[in-house]
Amino acid sequence: MSQPITAIYPGSFDPVTNGHLDIIERAARTFDQLVIAVGRNSGKSALFTPDERVEILRECVSVWPNVSVTSFDGLLVKFVHELGIRVVVRGLRAVSDFEFEFQIALANRQMAPDVETFFLMTSGEFLYLSSSIVKEIARLGGDISALAPEPVQRALNARFGREGAASP
Ligand code: ADP
Repeated sequence: MSQPITAIYPGSFDPVTNGHLDIIERAARTFDQLVIAVGRNSGKSALFTPDERVEILRECVSVWPNVSVTSFDGLLVKFVHELGIRVVVRGLRAVSDFEFEFQIALANRQMAPDVETFFLMTSGEFLYLSSSIVKEIARLGGDISALAPEPVQRALNARFGREGAASP
């Protein structure tokens, strides 16, 4: 009988968008367990702290019993080895993602040949969706209800001083 497969989906998730959630839902259907891992030292300047990002993600994924959320410091491959995980999931949007993702996947494979990266292609409607766009629209007071889940709308409204302004 085959062993259950746990996959890890690492990222900044600053904050999680409907594009990420689409990848999460499909990965959770494909693998037995899915661990979402928020990078604590991604090098990007973040709007939300890693703990805030974990908390928001936990609220968003509570509907999927086989999905858990954690955070990690340092090299992904080290963390992946610590957890005994062999599968990394990443999402691909436009061709522009490919070059960067290819580099990371190859670097990770060199450091950890026992770990495979699985790419899931975005669903068409999320092709141009990124955390940056969601933050920018929210900052300018736009409606992000089609782009990000409710906990994110709430957190962004609070962050940009629009408490109580979350869309229904
Ligand atoms: P990172 O800083 O590690 O790139 P992100 O939170 O921006 O973290 O993204 C995490 C992963 O999710 C990356 O593989 C990214 O390409 C993917 N991703 C981000 N937005 C989308 C989207 N709209 N559709 C599919 N994949 C996405």
